[in-house]
Amino acid sequence: MATFLTVLGIESSCDDTAAAVVQRAADGTAGIRSSIAHGQKDLHRDYGGIVPEIAARAHAVRLDSVTQQALDTAKTSLDDIDLIAVTAGPGLIGGLLAGVAFAKGLAAGAGKPFLGVNHLVGHALTARMTHGVAFPYLTLLASGGHCQFLAVRSADSFLRLGGTIDDAPGEAFDKSARLIGLDQPGGPAIEQCARCGNPNRFALPRPLSGRKGCSMSFSGLKTALLQAHTKIQAEGDPTDSDISDLAAGFQQAIVDIFVEKSCAALEMYHQEMGEKPNVFAFCGGVAANQTIRQNLQTLCAHSSVEFVAPPLQYCTDNAAMIAWTGAEIYQPGQSSGFDLKARPRWPLDERNIPPLLGSGRKGPKS
Ligand code: AMP
Ligand code: MG
Repeated sequence: MATFLTVLGIESSCDDTAAAVVQRAADGTAGIRSSIAHGQKDLHRDYGGIVPEIAARAHAVRLDSVTQQALDTAKTSLDDIDLIAVTAGPGLIGGLLAGVAFAKGLAAGAGKPFLGVNHLVGHALTARMTHGVAFPYLTLLASGGHCQFLAVRSADSFLRLGGTIDDAPGEAFDKSARLIGLDQPGGPAIEQCARCGNPNRFALPRPLSGRKGCSMSFSGLKTALLQAHTKIQAEGDPTDSDISDLAAGFQQAIVDIFVEKSCAALEMYHQEMGEKPNVFAFCGGVAANQTIRQNLQTLCAHSSVEFVAPPLQYCTDNAAMIAWTGAEIYQPGQSSGFDLKARPRWPLDERNIPPLLGSGRKGPKS
């Protein structure tokens, strides 16, 4: 592979401290030389959610060893790195500051250019890194903090077609798992538990079903699950089979919401872009869910659109997607300056359109 650019990526926007080395060849193909992610699940377990201060401190402590591990695994050193790409937003401000400060120090010490990258762009471009998908395409980005349908026109041009108006689906998985006594992260726990459950036993809602557009809502689903769980508890301790049925019912509701709204998003993409997409890419942590993947794949097969979902380790937060994004958008001589600021909010679609999030309820994420 004739190497065009070798990029060190750094990610610390939430609760994964990650570093990766990715190469982009002259023909645009990607070579992932290493991707190391150190999760903080154990540090936050007792608190029932991510504690931003604890996350930031843990990033500050681990960034250098995780980066060294990424360089060692790639059998390379900073000398051979052409660019350092770092997540500059959106995310938890403490973690972003830790990553951005670390990248600045590394760049200054090694005399290398560095570039602040949008974490959401990282997720949205992952399908290009893993499957060489060509622009333009439709993506559903569904993670612990975000959910939106985007027409990806280029590496720096996105059209938001719709998204969640309240919780992110990963957040709904996590909170719902906690409500029914399952482990964190809730997504994999619910998926596992749902395998032997009956998805039709509980009548859980499909919020915004039948409404025009591809906006979604997940917070009422969580409340309905809590009510169903409370009702069972009033009759005695829930059995394993009760919990499996609740998990299966919840997962099926998410499947149904995604399928209906993906159908609408395919149509909206057609209207906005003048043609239907060649590819529908499913990305973000929730894209690790096999049942949701299968259902969206079936929908795409019916619509004659190619369905792409990255390998699981590139669905959840990782630094390979950040390095890749750096490689896609970097123009020599146009790196970030040392005045680069971390941005807790950083919408992908830069048009002056009102935020979707908060039209359902007020929330800290966008
Ligand atoms: P991210 O924010 O992209 O790092 O993704 C993390 C989120 O993805 C968490 O909310 C997880 O619960 C969720 N997630 C991870 N694996 C799965 C899965 N198999 N099914 C559903 N959600 C998942
Ligand atoms: Mg993410």
